[in-house]
Amino acid sequence: MSIDLDGDQQFVYKISCTTCRAKGHRKWSAYRPGGDNGFMAAMDRWTFHLTEKHPDAEAPCLAFLPAAQQRLHERRQAQGGADG
Ligand SMILES: [Zn+2]
Repeated sequence: MSIDLDGDQQFVYKISCTTCRAKGHRKWSAYRPGGDNGFMAAMDRWTFHLTEKHPDAEAPCLAFLPAAQQRLHERRQAQGGADG
């Protein structure tokens, strides 16, 4: 996890997957604009990436998966509840 400045001198959150790099897979990273929402969105993306690509990986952030799924569910409901 690193926090960089983008071209407009705004904070961006950048998360790189060290597991992908260790296994020689294609590099994966999440990139989101700064602010609380950007931070949560970047963390959620990484959490979902881990569960999909590295289900057997020991990662502390997997503890946040239920919360990430809950936020995803709430975002979908906020968009009209199309997923029933
Ligand atoms: Zn990965």
